[in-house]
Amino acid sequence: MSIQNEEIIIIGAGITGLHLAQCLKLRHQGCLILEKSKGLGGRVATRRIDDLGLDHGAAFLDSVIATQLNPEVCKKGFFFHGGMNSLAKELGKNLNVSKSQKVQKISQSGLGWSLQTEDGASFFCKKLILTAPLPQALELLSQNSLSPASLELGIKYSKAIIYLAILNDIPADAVSSNFENHEFLLMRERHLHPRGLVVQLSQDFSEKYFEKTDEEILSLIAPVIAQSPFAEATVEKFELKKWRYSRPLSTYSSPYIEIHPGLFLCGDAFGSPFTSAEALAQVL
Ligand SMILES: Cc1cc2nc3c(=O)[nH]c(=O)nc-3n(C[C@H](O)[C@H](O)[C@H](O)COP(=O)(O)OP(=O)(O)OC[C@H]3O[C@@H](n4cnc5c(N)ncnc54)[C@H](O)[C@@H]3O)c2cc1C
Repeated sequence: MSIQNEEIIIIGAGITGLHLAQCLKLRHQGCLILEKSKGLGGRVATRRIDDLGLDHGAAFLDSVIATQLNPEVCKKGFFFHGGMNSLAKELGKNLNVSKSQKVQKISQSGLGWSLQTEDGASFFCKKLILTAPLPQALELLSQNSLSPASLELGIKYSKAIIYLAILNDIPADAVSSNFENHEFLLMRERHLHPRGLVVQLSQDFSEKYFEKTDEEILSLIAPVIAQSPFAEATVEKFELKKWRYSRPLSTYSSPYIEIHPGLFLCGDAFGSPFTSAEALAQVL
């Protein structure tokens, strides 16, 4: 079996992993990113319907660094024409990313780290960086008997339930709004799908109903929409999306952790994806 050798491997092609790889590139350091899904972006996710975009992950990013990449500014943060995923595509340009590679096994091996993916591909690297949401990264470490012995990270994430819909007959006065703590975002406002509506259910709602079936959740959302500015619109199609780890409820005091020699954790649990990646790039 062949083993691919790399100096640095980053697990995850979300904003942290991509920005970290770009920072390393600026420092003339190469790396390989292994990403379990078929696309880039992670929680910066744009769903294509009728060839037009709807953001079902972060609709805005709070970091100012995003301004360098041709964003639009709004009162909440920065967003991107064509969907937030355009940011990931921009960041992913000219990087060495291997998609559909879910890392399952990690073990210390000599002066580095051996990895194996779900499909049996093998890798070795001197430095390994995990960028998944912290609970997922810790679970992966625990499955590989690599849990930190005495470090209590204790960072929890909020859950998020997102309702995506394509509407007909949208009332002229329906605007993007916060409504009873459920955030409504009309994609027409964002130059995305002109009939796209995204409802990000409140944190309380998402926590309470996360394990319910889609049918049960939809029956709970219907009265919310019935009282919203979109009540008169008709729904052409819809989808529900659930994020078990949406945003950290607190952040760790330093921008990354070296949890074992040459094995690092970074990402949004350690500040913003951008600042965490930049700080780590300095020491790799
Ligand atoms: C609904 C929602 C709303 C949000 N709203 C905002 C907002 O308004 N403002 C804001 O600033 N932020 C917001 N966020 C948070 C923001 O999206 C994240 O902070 C940011 O995208 C995190 O990027 P990341 O690269 O650190 O992690 P991720 O995007 O989670 O990237 C990690 C990557 O690792 C991959 N991965 C995981 N495990 C493995 C494995 N074993 N092998 C290979 N690959 C693996 C994943 O597929 C993923 O692509 C929101 C998030 C959600 C879900």
